[in-house]
Amino acid sequence: MSVIAPKTNLLNFDPKGLQQFFSNHGEKPFRSTQLLKWIYHRGISDFAAMTDLSKGLRTRLNACAEIRPPEMLVEQDSKDGTRKWLLRLDDGNCIETVFIPESDRGTLCISSQVGCILNCSFCSTAKQGFSRNLSTAEIIGQVWIAAKMLGQFELNQQHRIITNVVLMGMGEPLLNYEQVVPALRLMMEDNAFGLSKRRVTLSTAGIVPALDKLRDECDVSLAISLHATSDELRNKLVPVNKKYPIADLLAACKRYLEGTARKKITFEYVMLSEINDQPKHAKELVKLLEGIPAKINLIPFNPYPHSVYKTSSQAAIDTFYNILYRAGMTTITRRTRGDDIDAACGQLAGKVLDRTKRSERIKRQANETTGGGETCHSN
Ligand code: SAH
Repeated sequence: MSVIAPKTNLLNFDPKGLQQFFSNHGEKPFRSTQLLKWIYHRGISDFAAMTDLSKGLRTRLNACAEIRPPEMLVEQDSKDGTRKWLLRLDDGNCIETVFIPESDRGTLCISSQVGCILNCSFCSTAKQGFSRNLSTAEIIGQVWIAAKMLGQFELNQQHRIITNVVLMGMGEPLLNYEQVVPALRLMMEDNAFGLSKRRVTLSTAGIVPALDKLRDECDVSLAISLHATSDELRNKLVPVNKKYPIADLLAACKRYLEGTARKKITFEYVMLSEINDQPKHAKELVKLLEGIPAKINLIPFNPYPHSVYKTSSQAAIDTFYNILYRAGMTTITRRTRGDDIDAACGQLAGKVLDRTKRSERIKRQANETTGGGETCHSN
């Protein structure tokens, strides 16, 4: 009985990896540039259509390789123009990807893991537990599918619909470093998506050793999910703080900028009513970030079923903003987008085949306290 080897998914390779693939197969390394352009400039996944490759090479590729992004299951459109896609992975897990159009940019928010292990107390992804890391193909595949759905491949390279990518969907990207970094390289590589490094942002709760590694290996913009000004509170909101407390995290942020052309780090701060949104917190934040070139992103908390927190009042957000602004800090208040289709920050759900017992436990607790209700809204 002959065993058929699985095909190699070329979406798993960054530019160097693709070169290696070709030389392993006795082909010239420059074939990788041709391939990248077919895949990421033109959106072609069928080798037969790649007319500048010899017929022989196309046949050989077809026999051993494939270009296979996740499968698009459902598309939802928000009344504000936000679009969300539910994508199915080979093992039955599902992830969500969101496109947020604005007048001057189009931002794609992608996931890096199925679920998340960090268990931040205000995040709905946390309630679903964790299944696994995404592969590079599943990460870059989200950008590829979105580009296809948005018609970007029909436009020439000067006209982009997706101008920015943020890793702010499900998961902690720095806990999936080995798969995330090749995907980031493909986003920024000219022969692939060609986005500038200022427009590709990795958001992290602050995994300090991985931050230092990233600093040396991949030039992307960084967003830190800070959310609190004291270790005591941050330990509750972002439990990984117990391992990497605020002082260590901010020291790593300084190292991230030192000796590089990088200008600023974004600090995300979710506004939770009566928890972290008081004027004293704003003043503490100013002090804490002294000496770090920073941009602060105030995110109104997006509620979800059974969430224990409340969104800060507009007055509290305005007061907080004004304290930062008067202290000379670059601050923006993020507008909630796509909440009618559950596409706002922290609302991405997908379908997580949870390998931890967390989601079951949470469902049980919710049933006990309210007599029913689902936390996952996209199945
Ligand atoms: N693990 C990464 C990326 C995923 S979360 C990180 O922690 O940065 C992306 C951003 O959305 C984070 O800043 C996160 O704190 C925020 N977020 C999560 N749940 C939210 C909610 N319910 N409302 C508003 N923002 C939320």
